[in-house]
Amino acid sequence: MKSRIVLSLVTLLFVGVGLSAAQKSAIKAGHLIDTATGAVTSNQIILVEKNPTTGRSTILEIGSNLTIPSDAQVIDLSNQWVMGGLVDAHDHLGITYKEEPENWNYYMTIIMDSTPLRAIQSMSTGFQKLASGFTIVRDLGNNGLYADTALRQAIEMGWVPGPTMINSGIIIGAFGGQLYETPEQESTVYPEYLNADTNDEIVKAIRRNIHYGAKVIKVCVDCQAYPYTIDQLKLFVSEAANAGQKVSGHVQTREGARRAIEAGLWSLDHDGALDEELHAMMVKKGIWRVGTETPKADFMRPMSDATWERRTKMLKNAYDQGVKLAFSTDADYYIPGFNRGELTIEFLRTWIAAGIPNAAILKVLTTNGYEISEMQDRRGPIKVGFAADMIATSQNPLEDINALRDVQFVMKDGQVFKKDGVVNGLDFFHNGPVYGWRKR
Ligand SMILES: [Zn+2]
Repeated sequence: MKSRIVLSLVTLLFVGVGLSAAQKSAIKAGHLIDTATGAVTSNQIILVEKNPTTGRSTILEIGSNLTIPSDAQVIDLSNQWVMGGLVDAHDHLGITYKEEPENWNYYMTIIMDSTPLRAIQSMSTGFQKLASGFTIVRDLGNNGLYADTALRQAIEMGWVPGPTMINSGIIIGAFGGQLYETPEQESTVYPEYLNADTNDEIVKAIRRNIHYGAKVIKVCVDCQAYPYTIDQLKLFVSEAANAGQKVSGHVQTREGARRAIEAGLWSLDHDGALDEELHAMMVKKGIWRVGTETPKADFMRPMSDATWERRTKMLKNAYDQGVKLAFSTDADYYIPGFNRGELTIEFLRTWIAAGIPNAAILKVLTTNGYEISEMQDRRGPIKVGFAADMIATSQNPLEDINALRDVQFVMKDGQVFKKDGVVNGLDFFHNGPVYGWRKR
């Protein structure tokens, strides 16, 4: 009896697997873009094979004269432009600021939304970003009590579809984090931020994050009137390196940015404080610029002309000087009419306005993204032996980068997530704010 049940289960599983995904897939790529160089090859076949143990697929062969195995699932993208997936190097999947008229209320969000609720929200956000072609996301804090780790694990276990995540756990900051508390409510800071003022507290906070699943360390360099010193920031770098990790620094003042550069952080996040001189220093040290360059648009939060001009001018300056650039958004808010993936790709506006060439923007969104995520040796580029992640558009992004606004095809770890512009189940997800305090 027992063996018969096992047999039927095996049969069911086998049929199930057969229906959902073949062991081999052959993708017919009409135009295959090497995003590192901008080179395009025509009529390539990408053969992908699933590892039966992990359920994940890698790229087996690429070529124009491959014989397609008879048992392979054929995916016809003959009329499309195929390339590696996109990367957002700075977002927060487990938060969408609550919408009140003229007010994205961050405090209300962190007080009222539990970590389990935010974990579910982060899954939804990741799903929406993957639907827009983002196969890797650096998720840099503000996710409650490690909702980011939970989502990363769930995606890695194959429970839910989502981007590959490089998550930071809880943001580490000097007393108060990025908040302005009252003495009566000092506990508000946690779990959005880990207070770490002394060297011992810094080491402890880093180890705590890594223990609970962080893959990169996020520090608020200068969020308070008492920024970290260069020596303290160096301690961040060495302690994270002790566990093989890098440090990303939120910077909002010129002095904070200067110290972060001197200390050799991996990336400087947010562009407001960066200028020509700091860019030159960043080039020398090989530090990534994660500018989170919010575009100026009528549907976005208001922005002065001066801020917009400075933003685009400085982005162009960084590009001209050869600073390592990553595409990044910080798009953790609700804009009616956009899901989080659609909102993410809107940030193209800034890169276009800055006058960056299409091929360079595409490289920033892909090749540079794989490098800042430290994935470039196994995931991202379409290469033999690499994870089977890829996207396709119906127009050529090298001719018009806006082609990326309409990603038609998304494959993640060999699984077809989106085809002919359609994602199964996307309509079930919604990017609206969770329970407002009046609507509970
Ligand atoms: Zn951020």
